[in-house]
Amino acid sequence: MEPSFVSWIRARAPATGDDCAVLPCAPWGDLLVTVDSVLDGVHLDAARHGLDVFGYKAVARGLSDIAAMGGEPLWVVLAATLTSEHTIADAQQVFLGAERAGCSIVGGDTAVGPALGVTATVIGRADAGTAWRRSGARVGDSIVATGSFGRSLPTDHHATFIARNDAAKALREQADVGAAIDVSDGLSTDLLHILTASGVGCELHADAIPRRDEATLEEALGDGEDYELLATIRPGPIPAGFTRLGEITSGDPVLVCDDARSRLRAKGWEHGA
Ligand SMILES: [Mg+2]
Repeated sequence: MEPSFVSWIRARAPATGDDCAVLPCAPWGDLLVTVDSVLDGVHLDAARHGLDVFGYKAVARGLSDIAAMGGEPLWVVLAATLTSEHTIADAQQVFLGAERAGCSIVGGDTAVGPALGVTATVIGRADAGTAWRRSGARVGDSIVATGSFGRSLPTDHHATFIARNDAAKALREQADVGAAIDVSDGLSTDLLHILTASGVGCELHADAIPRRDEATLEEALGDGEDYELLATIRPGPIPAGFTRLGEITSGDPVLVCDDARSRLRAKGWEHGA
């Protein structure tokens, strides 16, 4: 989304820029709410992906945002727009795909429109005041992540990924988490979201970044749609299933590659810096 529109809307809505809205519901805890759309020709290609994949990806993207907040997913509300060419069986495929993502669907809406699209609102919870924020990174924290990065589109990872809710639960139990986010825009861009929100810098070690399908460093940092969990934790043992990618510093955002230091940028780094 256009950064200028995001700033415009943030000036008008009480949003913090985190992956979910956090709604205090004492004494029950904090309600976490996120919404994502999956549109034909934008996020998936109906000529290539079945209708079930539209339902699946819409819900899985929301589940990934709940994981990024360290929350527990509870319910999904689904809205599907199908074209006049689609049948009831097609609508059922969307629903079955959404169900496959593994969160209970409690409501929704269908409409007929010019193009196929599915929007999922995912609702979760966390104990009051414990949801992870992008702004919580502290100098000295380790930067850790699940899985691998890059080439999500050519490998179809973006259509088949399993949201990292189990890893988030394990991380909450095993580490003191500072900040977290899920990697949708690209590893460097999303790490910079944490650094900016927290007012800190980093040393990101290029050699430590696991790459999917022999991705180049540029692809691993910039491609996006990895839907991995990226977090900062207090120094200590790295929980199983996570890789340590670097550390949080009080300086600039730096990418360390073969002893060369470059400035980390959105979608990569500053070449020759
Ligand atoms: Mg997110």
